[in-house]
Amino acid sequence: MRAVVCRKPGEIALEERPEARPAAGEALIAVRRVGICGTDYHIYEGRHPYLAYPRVMGHELSGVVLEAPTGSGFALDDCVVVNPYLSCGACVACRKGKPNCCVRIVVLGVHGDGGMCERISVPTGNLYPAGRLTFDEAASVEFLSIGAHAVARSGLKPADRALVVGAGPIGLGVALFAGLSGGEVAILDLDPARLDFASQAGLAARTILADGRTAEQVAAATDGDGFDVVFDATGNRASMEQVLLYVGHGGALVLVSVVNEVVAFPDPELHKREATVICSRNALRSDFERVMAAIDAGSVPLGRLLTHRTTLASAALDIPRWTRHKTGLVKALVEIE
Ligand SMILES: [Zn+2]
Ligand SMILES: [Zn+2]
Repeated sequence: MRAVVCRKPGEIALEERPEARPAAGEALIAVRRVGICGTDYHIYEGRHPYLAYPRVMGHELSGVVLEAPTGSGFALDDCVVVNPYLSCGACVACRKGKPNCCVRIVVLGVHGDGGMCERISVPTGNLYPAGRLTFDEAASVEFLSIGAHAVARSGLKPADRALVVGAGPIGLGVALFAGLSGGEVAILDLDPARLDFASQAGLAARTILADGRTAEQVAAATDGDGFDVVFDATGNRASMEQVLLYVGHGGALVLVSVVNEVVAFPDPELHKREATVICSRNALRSDFERVMAAIDAGSVPLGRLLTHRTTLASAALDIPRWTRHKTGLVKALVEIE
């Protein structure tokens, strides 16, 4: 079967790969759509902290069941959303009901080969029935579930003032679910075009341009209080450290994106706020379900978020191009028919 393989940093190709063979407890899925993520561009650039090459990328997947174990509840031609976080079921995190941070986690397309290919085997526990969702919608569930999980982690309450820092796809997902949870949402970014996009898509009531006057704008937006919850989705150390200053006293800072660096906070600033610092990693089944319900209810402006499309045959040319030129790009999908 055909697969898009990142052979090493800077080299990506369409290859012929051995057919996927389901092990016990796995279903064989014909992949229909694959969302391309910041992680995939980082893999191509060689900027991913723990990745062995060559790697078949792709962790944002929808498809149809070709073969499923009897008693699994899945049957031929069922449309499915794939949860790409394979967990061990036995470690301390799994025992706490947190398989999203399993000690031995394998993320399809990152630690193991992913779904940018014709067929893939997936444990049936990682498949969710797509219901009325289209293949495009079903492939968008994973990236949005990162935002839904961050909001669930934050403890955001209705009427809380939330600031989302970073208006990329993950930040937009955070803003969406903060709004759906009743928060009053502002979004901050360096790029005025990304801020315009966020407000036109209805994802934030207020936008704040990161410039020399950011602190004043934060004060103006919150009557001088600072925000109840600040989410950082920038993947930038300096931003993660700076945005603590936008958290109001008694508020929380949620670190959504991860950096491969030491992040440091001045203790007086942390302490005087009695700030809660929360990390958010991947997502849980409940987050996937929250996203699927929101899409089904028409609450997700996917028509705006899905800006680019390619095919398995063209992805090896398009991914390098989109790594360099992201103007107007929010989320690209690979179509496999
Ligand atoms: Zn992703
Ligand atoms: Zn585990």
